[in-house]
Amino acid sequence: MFISSKGLTFDDVLLVPGYNGIKSRQNVTTAVDLLGLKFEIPIMTSNMDTITEVEMANAITALGGMAILHRFMTIEKNVDMFKRVKDQSRVAISIGLGKDGLERADALIHLGANIICVDVAHGHSKEVNRSIRHLREKHPDSLVVIAGNVATYAGADYLAAAGADVIKVGIGSGSVCTTRIKTGFGVPQLTALQECRKVDRLIISDGGIRFPADAVKALAAGADFVMLGGMLAGTDETPGEVVEKVNDDGEKIRVKRFRGMASREAQEDFMGSMSEWKTAEGVSIEVAYRGSVKDVILDVMGGIRSGLTYCGAATIKDLQRKAQFIEITNAGQIEGTPHASIRKPNKT
Ligand code: 5GP
Repeated sequence: MFISSKGLTFDDVLLVPGYNGIKSRQNVTTAVDLLGLKFEIPIMTSNMDTITEVEMANAITALGGMAILHRFMTIEKNVDMFKRVKDQSRVAISIGLGKDGLERADALIHLGANIICVDVAHGHSKEVNRSIRHLREKHPDSLVVIAGNVATYAGADYLAAAGADVIKVGIGSGSVCTTRIKTGFGVPQLTALQECRKVDRLIISDGGIRFPADAVKALAAGADFVMLGGMLAGTDETPGEVVEKVNDDGEKIRVKRFRGMASREAQEDFMGSMSEWKTAEGVSIEVAYRGSVKDVILDVMGGIRSGLTYCGAATIKDLQRKAQFIEITNAGQIEGTPHASIRKPNKT
């Protein structure tokens, strides 16, 4: 059985320009209100162990965004890491399921953590529901609960009904994720966002953002925040060392490690080994070292501000109200990427 709609992702569409009454792209606002907490930019850093630890958290909060610390460490180390973060009210912590998840939440909430992300690969599940309900019962008013990941209206609605304030959307769209080729499951990200936004909760678009334009399209499709992993990989603020090596062309290059949390390498590091009944659903790669995260964020924010003016939208909510997408062909997609080449002048 097929569901009726066609699944679309960022490259399948463009946003159609609309009348602009805004004087300059400096006159738009990109701020997001997360249940009373104001973030100047709608960007959060992915809770992966090669993306968000203390340095990344401090950098993104200083730029006005939000960080989610990863959870692939002991509770003691997690506690120590949270203590070293500067702006603790803007940094979320992640928990998995079961006893470890609830104990981790208790330890970090005790230290003042107020944004908790219940984070598993397939969030439309009974165990995630239990964790959310448990957190809600224990801390009725004091917590912002983020939960995911889901990619359907039914999944988002289920998490909202369980008590989640924010729904993290994305199954199989991540840059180092292999879920779709290992399992055949997933929903193209733009359609996933359009489905999940029907639930009256804040939405995070997680996975598959490769260019500033993808962030604009995700926000226009209904996301309140975009989460970045691969786009920030290789920056100074990510955990891990910069390694110098020589590439196949004999050139000296600098690289950093970036890996999926369900990759064999990550699983072996945290569990000791990968069980035989499992298959890795992520890969581990080297990416080019790329300097400060600030430059990447400024580039994305430049795209978002400019995008708002192409739509004539003063705010992200305005963008979501006014945005019109057009589905494009492969030729349209090629036309939209740099395609100039040096041609010899005609002789005639
Ligand atoms: P990116 O911004 O790199 O495209 O996507 C980052 C997101 O990919 C993460 O926030 C997370 O949701 C997802 N992800 C990270 N590691 C893995 C993995 O090993 N497998 C899968 N399926 N998804 C992953």
